[in-house]
Amino acid sequence: MNESKTRRRLVVGNWKMNGNLATNAELLDGITAQWQGVDGVDAALCPPFVYLSQAAHALKNSVIELGAQSVNEHDAGAFTGEISGAMLDDLGCRYVIVGHNERRRLEGETEARVADKFHAALQAGLIPILCVGESEQERDAGQALETIGRQLGVVIERVGLQAFENAVVAYEPVWAVGTGKVASPEQAEEVHRFIRAELGKLGPQTQILYGGSVKPGNAEQLFALPDIDGALLGGASLNADDFVAICKAAG
Ligand code: PEP
Repeated sequence: MNESKTRRRLVVGNWKMNGNLATNAELLDGITAQWQGVDGVDAALCPPFVYLSQAAHALKNSVIELGAQSVNEHDAGAFTGEISGAMLDDLGCRYVIVGHNERRRLEGETEARVADKFHAALQAGLIPILCVGESEQERDAGQALETIGRQLGVVIERVGLQAFENAVVAYEPVWAVGTGKVASPEQAEEVHRFIRAELGKLGPQTQILYGGSVKPGNAEQLFALPDIDGALLGGASLNADDFVAICKAAG
């Protein structure tokens, strides 16, 4: 059997710092109402922390899972403003995004801290979605694979390869996130194949998502690639029609 056929497809929506109670309710209603046509794909939504309970309630009769956008690396204690893995688990989260480029770049998360967060997520029984990806300068300098290899390597060193049995990797070229630019099929497939190889014996079974300006119009072409197992969506996850259309394309 083709290896890619043994991996389930997964589409994850990262709402980032968007929404309010009213717009979230509309979005969640829109997604759940249209869900019946979606088949053969797992899906998760990652609202801001403060709306996790709202989303958990709206998704309670749905197969759509709940995820969070970040997690603190500590179990508990004097970390004002932070959220632990146990808290996310308590609220019903299954996934947590770790190492999103906006947190690495704008919140100063180091590679070592990303690895600690990945570890904390696993300890709490959550599935970390590890984001890796090169900047435009790194790509232009021919350093894309080197950057991604290093980002991945720091996490593998911290938790061991075997830990990827319960993890997802998302390739998100920084220059494609929120910009409308999408990696070409050749660029995306090259990186996905590289990540799979870096994961050694866990490579064939690990879900590797592509993220970066995925829309209904380009999703099918990306999902047709053998090493792309789904998508991490930003902008498109804020529109029910687009989110469901992309999930359908993945199924
Ligand atoms: C993201 O933030 O992870 C992302 C992929 O955003 P967008 O789809 O808007 O590029």
